[in-house]
Amino acid sequence: MSINFSEETGEVLTTTASLPEDHAEGSLRPRTLTEYIGQEKAKGNLEIFINAAKLRNEPLDHVLLHGPPGLGKTTLAAVIANEMGVNMRITSGPAIEKPGDLVAMLTNLNEGDILFVDEIHRLNRAYEEILYPAMEDYAIDIILGKGPSANSIHLDLPRFTLIGATTRSGQLTAPLRDRFGVALRLELYTPEELQKIVLRSAGILDVRIEPDGAYEIASRSRGTPRIANRMLRRVRDFAQVQSDGIITRAVADKALSRLEVDKLGLDSLDRKMLRSIIEFYGGGPVGLETLAATINEEAVTLEDMYEPYLLQQGFLTRTPRGRCVTRKAYEHLGVAYMGQQQMDSF
Ligand code: ADP
Repeated sequence: MSINFSEETGEVLTTTASLPEDHAEGSLRPRTLTEYIGQEKAKGNLEIFINAAKLRNEPLDHVLLHGPPGLGKTTLAAVIANEMGVNMRITSGPAIEKPGDLVAMLTNLNEGDILFVDEIHRLNRAYEEILYPAMEDYAIDIILGKGPSANSIHLDLPRFTLIGATTRSGQLTAPLRDRFGVALRLELYTPEELQKIVLRSAGILDVRIEPDGAYEIASRSRGTPRIANRMLRRVRDFAQVQSDGIITRAVADKALSRLEVDKLGLDSLDRKMLRSIIEFYGGGPVGLETLAATINEEAVTLEDMYEPYLLQQGFLTRTPRGRCVTRKAYEHLGVAYMGQQQMDSF
């Protein structure tokens, strides 16, 4: 996925995509289910499945994690591996360029290991078929040679767990989706949960922060831990240069406002998206592709990275005819609301 960032820092700060500056994420990742904040429903279910698998001395059933980027899918997979006491190998759908890549990954696994496939919806459909018997019977059939002299070799695999992560479970083929015993949806985090995450990260990074300061960052990070952690690092810079190094509510507010993140965590691209629907399409409905072309972004970027938060906050609705902005969005942007019927007669 290519992401077009404008020059404005606000957009880069609030993107859910992983940026080079997030390389320090590793140290902030929780290692156990107890440390993993929020996602209580998913965690509660997982705890039961993990304990049951351990009792039976079996590998965990295959798990599909879905939800927007930056919510902790990779982190949760690593937590599962840690809780199960097994190793995890990591790959991603687009990284598997030929069937041999996948066969090599599978045959190199040890008993009980976890294979984590990020962006599994982007795995080449033709290679998916290798996964079916691997997931179902822990075996693969490899065809050697071509034509009448071709030979098929049956290879047994160790019993393993596949954890697939996807931002778009709708794009998974039905046969693949059906082979996951457990499907968990990760939700956007509440400001209270993100506050805990920010305080925890501040502890690890040795940043002095007041609970109010953490809440200010939390409520402006679009429900996403990756953004909360990134904002923490940026606000820390402001705190060190412009005040005494302690992140208070006022320091966080000033820093984030300068970075063009508004009180509800909307950045300039969110506002551009909402304004375009109002100015050019009378508040909607407008198709996603048309909207993306209007603001010169990719539809997939809008859908995966921007919409989830705007929908959750009630600024945007999805209808069969396209996206519409809500009255709340007009009010937030300070634009006079005319009511849909009036707009239609315009
Ligand atoms: P995804 O794979 O969904 O894109 P990641 O697992 O890479 O997201 O998470 C991004 C960052 O957010 C991680 O480095 C981690 O520090 C933080 N994070 C995610 N979920 C949690 C959580 N539940 N508790 C604490 N930190 C989290």
